[in-house]
Parts: sequence; C-alpha cells; structure tokens
Amino acid sequence: MTPAGHQQPSQHAPELRAAARRLGRRRLFTVTAAAAALAFATNLPTAGAAGAAELDAARITDDPFTLGVASGDPQATSVLLWTRLAPAPYQADSGLPPERVVVRWELARDERFRHVVRRGAAIAHPEFHHSVHVEVGHLDPDRVFYYRFRAGSWVSETGRTRTAPSSRARVDELKLAAVSCQAYHEGYFTAYGHLAEDDVDVVFHVGDYLYEYAVNSAGGARNYTDRVLPDLFNRETVTLEDYRLRYALYKTDPDLRAVHAAHPFVVTWDDHEVENNYAAGIPENDVPPEEFLLRRAAGYRAYWENLPLRRPQRPEDDEMRLYRRLHWGRLAQFDILDTRQYRSDQAYGDGADIPGPETDDPARTITGARQERWLIDGWRASRALWNVVPQQVIFSQRKFDLAAASRVSMDAWDGYRASRGRVLAGAKSAGVDNLMVLTGDVHVAYAFDIKDDFDDPGSRTLGTEIVTTSITSGRDGVERPANWDTYMRANPHLKFYDGRRGYTTVRLGREAARADYKTVTAVTTPGAAITTAASFVTEVGDQGLKPA
Ligand code: FE
Ligand code: CA
Repeated sequence: MTPAGHQQPSQHAPELRAAARRLGRRRLFTVTAAAAALAFATNLPTAGAAGAAELDAARITDDPFTLGVASGDPQATSVLLWTRLAPAPYQADSGLPPERVVVRWELARDERFRHVVRRGAAIAHPEFHHSVHVEVGHLDPDRVFYYRFRAGSWVSETGRTRTAPSSRARVDELKLAAVSCQAYHEGYFTAYGHLAEDDVDVVFHVGDYLYEYAVNSAGGARNYTDRVLPDLFNRETVTLEDYRLRYALYKTDPDLRAVHAAHPFVVTWDDHEVENNYAAGIPENDVPPEEFLLRRAAGYRAYWENLPLRRPQRPEDDEMRLYRRLHWGRLAQFDILDTRQYRSDQAYGDGADIPGPETDDPARTITGARQERWLIDGWRASRALWNVVPQQVIFSQRKFDLAAASRVSMDAWDGYRASRGRVLAGAKSAGVDNLMVLTGDVHVAYAFDIKDDFDDPGSRTLGTEIVTTSITSGRDGVERPANWDTYMRANPHLKFYDGRRGYTTVRLGREAARADYKTVTAVTTPGAAITTAASFVTEVGDQGLKPA
C-alpha cells in the first residue's frame, strides 16, 4: 500500500473519542492505537499528487474480468456500473502491479452495442484493489441498458441494467427480488442461476453477502472434486487482504456473476461482512476494541470495493454511510437501512432471551438516532404508494416458544423493542399506509403481518414483512423445520414458514403486492430445480397477507 492520502492521526481524534464512548464494554480504548490502525485503512488515491504509476493495459496478459460486472442503485437518470480487474483473483495482488489502469466502458440501448448512448474511461486504482465504480448520468428514465468494460484488448462480459422511472411517473408495476445469506462454503449459488433468468427489475440484497469463516480446499459443502481451493481461504477473515481475497472467491462463482450481470443490485450488509453478531464497534468475541475497529474498517473497505455502490457510500475511516433512499416513480420509496453499524450492544448477550428492561430501554437503539430520524422524516415526505424497507434482521415479534414471556432473538428488532416502537409510531404518524419490510438473516423464509400490538392478534395490521431465506447458508434445509408447529402457534401473525434455500420475488402494483417464495431442492449438489413454495398478496389500503 502506498502512503498517499494518509491523514494525520490527530484528525481522527474527535471521531475516535466518540467511538471510544460507544465502545469500552470489554476493554479500555486507546485513541492512538486506533488512529494508527485507521491510518492504514484510509489510504485513498490522491488526485493530482504523485500517486501510483499507470500500467499500460496492453501488458495485461490474462483476462482481468474474472470477477464479472455488476450494476447498482438505479436512479431515474443514472446507473452505477462496477467491475474489478483481477487477472489472478486468488492472489493478494490480483496479478497486477500497484499501478493505475485505465478501464474503458460503454453503455448501449442494445445487447450488441449498435446504439451506444455513452462511453468513457475510468481509473482502476490500486488503492481500491483495481475496482471501478462508474456513475453514468443524464440518461432517460425507465429504460433498459447494456454495458461492458475494456482494459487493453480484454473485453468484459455484457451486463444488463436499467434506470428507475422518473419521480413524477405513474408506474403500474415493479418486480423485485429479495436475497440474503450466501455462505460460499455451505453450497452452490444455484438459486442465483435461476434468478439470473427470472424477470425482475432489481434485486435487493439484505445482508451476509460474504461470511468470514474459513473455507477449506474442497469449498466446504460444495465438496469440489474437480478443483482445489488455495490454503489462503482456510482461515477466518480479519485483515483487508483476507476480506478482499474472500470477495474474489465469491465473485468468481459463475451463478453469482450471472445474476449480477442480469440485474441491478441494491445492497445492504448484515454482520458477517465483518463478523458474526457484532454491534457497532463491539465485536462478538473478547478482542481489544481498537483491534476490532481495524477489522471493521477492513471489512467495510472490501465491501465498498466489491459491490456496485455509489460515491456517497464510500467508507471514510471505519465508517460507511450505507443507509440511503431510492424511488421507483410514485409507486415505491425504498428506505434501505443499516441496523448493524450504529446499534447498541445486544441485550442479555447475543442469543435468545426473554425481553426485559434492557430490550425496552429507550436509550438503546438498533438504527442509531440519526438514521431513525432520517427514516421517519423520509416517510413524512414520501409520496409513494408503497413504502418498502429493505433491511437486515427480523422486524416482527418472533416468539421461540409458547410461554407468554417467550424467548426471542436479542440480535433482531425483538431485542430492541423501544427502537421498534419508535419506528412504528413514526410510520403511523407519517401516515404510511402500505408498509413492507424486506428482511434476511435467519436462513428460512417467513411471511409476517406487522401488528400494532404483536400480542393482540386483533390489533391493526400496519404492514407486512417478507423474510427471504438464504441462498446457501444452512445447507439444504427442510420444508418444515422441527420448531415449525411451535413457531406457527406462538406467532399468529406469522403466515408462512419454510426452511429451504432460495429467494423471494415481490411484484408491487397499484392495487396489491404479491410475494412469491422460490425454493431450490438442494444446494450441496449443483443444478437443483426451482419451484414456488407459496405466494401471498397484500392489498393497497388493506394491509395483511393472504394466500394468492
Ligand atoms: Fe446469514
Ligand atoms: Ca446475519
């Protein structure tokens, strides 16, 4: 890494002291140690300064587009295009010298690039691991486009993307998919192969894009017999190099490449992009907070480098502004949340427990105060028919047993009940009529009615929560897990529960929304078929899931 762009540690001090106040549960925080650590993670390319040299792209002798292409965050007149150059993806340097590379791009109306509407050049910086994030603006709303990249004589595969309808447009329909939890070592991304062929406008990834756990030479449950993965994946990711290499492993998967090339993605993370069940600056295990903050910075940095995100999402030090808002004409507003970066530490440990004073403590938060205000203000200003909230962890009450005081998940909104209460009160006061929450995390599919009072089945239904199952995490799964009867009885607002792998599509219309739960029969063997396990509708002005 070059020293270009390092900031002086003193400039970090105010944020670090704030961070230190948020931390400190497990050990005293030392500002200087963290500042030194963060300086390493900052490392931005500097415009105009004597930075890295430029590599003549003609000297790249192997295909640099091994990680495919992607697009993200469609806006009415702009798209975001992504790729990363990696002729040798499983090497720390990706097979490139630490030099800048010019990458050319083209955007066309047609797949054969006869009608190119824009072209340009972007710099792949070694500081960003030779990733490029190209924002192409001044486009027509509500159009499909095709794009590709070129470096030297190498041409990438062609991606397909689209702009959103204009903010004033009366839109009849939006077809989205929700996906989550893609542990590479737990199976094949077969569901993505199917989703690449499915007819959707945009895909929402609601977290666990990557897992930090070791991947052995057989690819874990993939049980490869035709290849041997290098040893460097067989350790938990901690350093920037670890996270970068892990993204390279995931991104070389043909099904993941296909789904990114086929549809624009809107992504948000959960915990595993850094570490299981972390909370803001607090790690899962007993490691010094300054060490964890460095790890978090590494995870955030690699996430940015490998996903189709816009410039406002680029991390600064150990922070990354991932919560953001998108619009689909007057049909839908999407408030994409980050319930991981700003949350209070989990109550009563990270597992299952009975709610108590701590879960109900108004001083605790799952969103942070700023994001909560932003969400509720956004709802107040919304003119959309549907207000959709793609986010990480289960929003609805989910009792694990039949006791009146049942155990619930302390890592989900159930562990932050005061926070949930404020958000629901905000939705009501903002007059949100058609609320839909899109969730992942739990590696099973659920359909919930969001109740005004979850303990009173007769109370008003304020919206619906569509929980998409995992792509692979949890391996093959079963249709009815052992706790199925208990969960269905303990939670009358739970309308559907399926324990297999897959994804969920949602069609938002002017009269109703329809959710289709798609499942694959297996992920530990490749090539499984996909079927629709169940379908539900919820009507505009009369929220609540009914079988379709
Ligand atoms: Fe997960
Ligand atoms: Ca998770």
